[in-house]
Amino acid sequence: MRRLILAAAAIALAACGDRAPEPPVKEAPSESVSAKPKRSVPRPAPWTAPKVARLYGHFPYAEAARETLRAGVCSGGGERQYLNADAAEALARMRAAAEAEGVTLNPSSCFRSHASQERLFTCVDAPHGAGCADGQLISAEVRATAVAPNSYSEHHTGYAIDFFPSAGDIDPATCPKANACTLTTAFAKARSGQWLAAHAGAYGFEMSFWQGSPQGVSYEPWHYRFVGAPDALSVFGDARTEFPPP
Ligand SMILES: [Zn+2]
Repeated sequence: MRRLILAAAAIALAACGDRAPEPPVKEAPSESVSAKPKRSVPRPAPWTAPKVARLYGHFPYAEAARETLRAGVCSGGGERQYLNADAAEALARMRAAAEAEGVTLNPSSCFRSHASQERLFTCVDAPHGAGCADGQLISAEVRATAVAPNSYSEHHTGYAIDFFPSAGDIDPATCPKANACTLTTAFAKARSGQWLAAHAGAYGFEMSFWQGSPQGVSYEPWHYRFVGAPDALSVFGDARTEFPPP
């Protein structure tokens, strides 16, 4: 009898084995996962650097450190005679090359401080300039198409040059009077303007506000910036990225 009871218990224990915990589920091999159709997981948009805040189309620029500037380079008076030393050396080579072809370049207005840009933009220094009427500002938006607001001029960097017509440009076909080619689009037809358009790039200079640029600044065939040195390239990096020169 005792043997029968033990046998029954052994059978019961064996039956309990059927209800033992199931072995852990093995992870499916990766092959079987890849074989399944992929779930489309939305991916975040790639990060992009925020654009530099512009004002009326102009980029902000710090004022050049005075020790980077060389005096007596440009014909304009006061602070406008100053130009970055690297740009000045390239300019000297460029002027000599132009002269060898009978073209005189006249770099006139170069460095400009934030303070003088403020006077220019608010019609104090140029009361009859673009956007000004007897010293009154017509509209900041209109004025800014021709003159950068304070802290937004390339001239602050010491790398920008406004070329004025030279004596050799006084040609009835192009500049019947020097004033007709000074800071006007007619400068593009002046001999020096044409020479610059064709050769300035070889000396590290480029026209900043080229015809058709979407930047929102008027075409200025007389205004060139120097990008022929690493520091200069860095200063104008944002402008050149957003509005690549043609
Ligand atoms: Zn300029």
